[in-house]
Amino acid sequence: MLKQINGLHHVTSLASGAQENNAFFTKVLGLRRVKKTVNFDAPDVYHLYYGDAAGTPGTVMTYFPFPDAARGRPGVGEVGTTAFAVPKGALPFWEERLGAYEVDGLIRTDRMGETRLMFKGPDGDGFALVEAEDDRAPWVADVPEDVAIRGFHSADMRLSPRGAAASGELLTFMGYEKEDTQHNVTRYRVPDGNEAQVIDITEVEAAHAAQGAGSVHHIAFSVDNRDKQLEVRKALMDTGYQVTPVIDRDYFWAIYFRTPGGVLFEVATNEPGFDRDEDSAHLGEALKLPTQHEHLRARLEQMLEPIRD
Ligand code: ZN
Repeated sequence: MLKQINGLHHVTSLASGAQENNAFFTKVLGLRRVKKTVNFDAPDVYHLYYGDAAGTPGTVMTYFPFPDAARGRPGVGEVGTTAFAVPKGALPFWEERLGAYEVDGLIRTDRMGETRLMFKGPDGDGFALVEAEDDRAPWVADVPEDVAIRGFHSADMRLSPRGAAASGELLTFMGYEKEDTQHNVTRYRVPDGNEAQVIDITEVEAAHAAQGAGSVHHIAFSVDNRDKQLEVRKALMDTGYQVTPVIDRDYFWAIYFRTPGGVLFEVATNEPGFDRDEDSAHLGEALKLPTQHEHLRARLEQMLEPIRD
């Protein structure tokens, strides 16, 4: 069993409009845009990152917005809900705020003794706010500090029974402990993690998901550094997983592998971080391009959808 994984690092999803996506995460949810760059593998598409002040691993929601992308079709083999932690007592504030912004799908539910407010993102993305004890300091701009989002609480993978069993085994191998099962949901938690340390598996019989706008593309798990990442990579490969080589994403190093339930996992380093190429007072303001795409800047600045802050 591995000991290197701290919990979630980031969650990456697909969107349609960049402007709408940016407004939702910064103005409605009150996160900080910590990086405006492009998809390193397809540089004519933005890669937008939203999180706390520094983009601390465990707080970072990221998007590839494809203009005019069709919506995904929910199903099994994907992350169905990404949950953010908010302080105890914060949900009435959020219910009113999200209602005022005419956010879709507002429903209060209870899971594992925690109250959660479910809602949909601009492309039908599945989100929840969960009241939790959480010491992380929030980014404070458009939402008051005492109710602001602290970072991720958890990600919920919607899987077939077979995928759920195999993915549960994988999470256990990665250092998660099975904590509880209620109804068709099993909760896994990595001990002494980074607060974003819970993964839920919801077992359902349904058609396979079709990825599109509003779908989670992959979830990334945090390790402290490159040495630990290499240890995880070797352990996964020794177990039979096909893992990519280490890829430099400028703000972290990444490896990827497909899990038995169908969800794409990444393991990402906490180093070097989002202040690598921008002053921390101005994170996310300028369009940052990786060195290999810098020669495309003039064309990209012309073709990418303008984002008004
Ligand atoms: Zn990623």
